[in-house]
Amino acid sequence: MSGVRWTPATVERVVVQTPRVTSVFLRGDLPRSEAGQHVDVKLTADDGYSAERSYSIASAPGAPLVELAIEWLPDGEVSPFFHDVVQAGDTLDVRGPIGGHFVWRADDGGPLLLVAGGSGIAPLMAIVRHRAAVTPGLPTLLLYSSRTWDDIVFRAELQALAAADPALVVRFAITREAARRPGDVAGRLDAPRIAAALAGWGTRPARTYVCGANRFVEAITMALVDGGIAAATIRTERFGGAG
Ligand SMILES: Cc1cc2nc3c(=O)[nH]c(=O)nc-3n(C[C@H](O)[C@H](O)[C@H](O)COP(=O)(O)OP(=O)(O)OC[C@H]3O[C@@H](n4cnc5c(N)ncnc54)[C@H](O)[C@@H]3O)c2cc1C
Repeated sequence: MSGVRWTPATVERVVVQTPRVTSVFLRGDLPRSEAGQHVDVKLTADDGYSAERSYSIASAPGAPLVELAIEWLPDGEVSPFFHDVVQAGDTLDVRGPIGGHFVWRADDGGPLLLVAGGSGIAPLMAIVRHRAAVTPGLPTLLLYSSRTWDDIVFRAELQALAAADPALVVRFAITREAARRPGDVAGRLDAPRIAAALAGWGTRPARTYVCGANRFVEAITMALVDGGIAAATIRTERFGGAG
């Protein structure tokens, strides 16, 4: 199929990642994705009403299943479906992969700065996984903001990847609890905390990717530019909402 036609995809499994985020693994006739791309998902009710939403691909390019990491929004129209209703064996209409701006390819190189807020980790996880497969050793700093320690999606995998590769530095920012690890950030990722994390890293990023809710992306981008990161090297993906 072409990249933008709707195609059925089968839910292979559903994995609760955190209290608010669930991964849905899809198998379908989808073209190979690039790290950072998303798919559109269409849900259609019995009366024909349908709703479409975009979800980033968290799995690495070439992975046998497409992983989506979906945050439950209490008043959301679509996201609760993936937490309360969807089951292995279900079929969903999917279109993609889509997106060319928020993509990282091995040729793009680094050093890489990745900044995620909440479920904004999804496309950055694809980049982290792809980087581990194709260019381990590429200097990379992931700054990842979550409300609590238990809200950190992919926490164990990120810690394992960082432990195996000294060039990958992962700093969790926890906004509603004390930080648990030395070097992690206690509180919101604001300009001083980002500057401190960059100073601790000791590397200037050549490319920066920022993903999360609208307000998060705007605040982080302003802080980065104020901190001397060239705006032209920053790519952003906005998930919507005020965040
Ligand atoms: C390119 C792209 C990739 C995306 N990837 C992901 C992803 O990987 N994982 C994921 O969970 N979501 C992702 N989103 C967001 C997703 O498309 C939906 O917007 C989200 O799931 C909310 O849909 P809903 O129908 O549940 O809520 P809606 O019924 O559309 O909105 C309900 C309420 O939630 C607010 N809201 C909407 N989106 C957000 C948000 N992101 N944060 C906070 N509040 C919000 C709305 O303003 C509204 O008040 C992505 C969006 C885009 C554009």
